[in-house]
Amino acid sequence: MRRSTSYLDRRATARMPWRMPVVLMYHNFGEPIIGADPEHLFIKVDTFRAHLELLRKDGWHALTLDQFLAALDGAPTPRKSYLLTIDDGHESVARVAAPILAEKGIPSVLFVPPAVLGGPVTWNPVYSAERLSSPAEIATLVGTSMEIGVHGWDHTRMRGMDDDLLRLNIVRARDEVAAMTGARPRSFAYPYGTHDEAARRVMAEAGYAVAFAVAREHGLFAVDRVFVKGTESPALFRFKLTMAYRFASRVAGRTPWLRHRVRAAVQLLSGRQDTGDLSTVASR
Ligand SMILES: [Zn+2]
Repeated sequence: MRRSTSYLDRRATARMPWRMPVVLMYHNFGEPIIGADPEHLFIKVDTFRAHLELLRKDGWHALTLDQFLAALDGAPTPRKSYLLTIDDGHESVARVAAPILAEKGIPSVLFVPPAVLGGPVTWNPVYSAERLSSPAEIATLVGTSMEIGVHGWDHTRMRGMDDDLLRLNIVRARDEVAAMTGARPRSFAYPYGTHDEAARRVMAEAGYAVAFAVAREHGLFAVDRVFVKGTESPALFRFKLTMAYRFASRVAGRTPWLRHRVRAAVQLLSGRQDTGDLSTVASR
């Protein structure tokens, strides 16, 4: 009976269940090389450790991707469960975050754009001094609790692409990551979190198990995530784990004219801090 009502059975046509695990999205760790971080993408080491400690103390269970997918399929899962995801493959992930996650035994998924690995950040000039891990460095993460997924071909926005470009970003990118890691990726995160019907269709045809978006939830191939920023207080981090925040994020994601009102309400509730993931995702 449980399977007949599970999310996976309804696949991409269904909205995500409200009680699904929280999916956290991180980017960079430690201190920015140039000292500037206007989008608050860097999470200081102490802050990252504090997040993981807060999750543990509050009774949150870290899931592997297998456990996350099983939860969507109706498997019994603790009510407070989360999947930790990281976008882009910045060098600080392997250097800073991976050892901390390994030390604590916390599983995660890292999404990388294979065509630009080993070089500078090409999609945002403010961060062009930051380097992405090389394919060889990404390969060193294989066998740790960090699973590798795909983040497009070269971090180009995928909304509006024709099918040939979509296949480059979805299928060929997966082949490149598979060659790098020796394992076929089964998860994807859209660059900038943006997607459209064609992107979700090609994703499903390609056989991915799941694809992640940001604030624009649309079924299994555009699962919403919580964008974690480096400047947020512990109180705001905790608020972002709640059902109230999930509701606000979904409403804002579906209803553009409501977005700034929902964002203002969340800011009021959470101490007037930046909650930019409820508006346009500018440069991730
Ligand atoms: Zn990205």
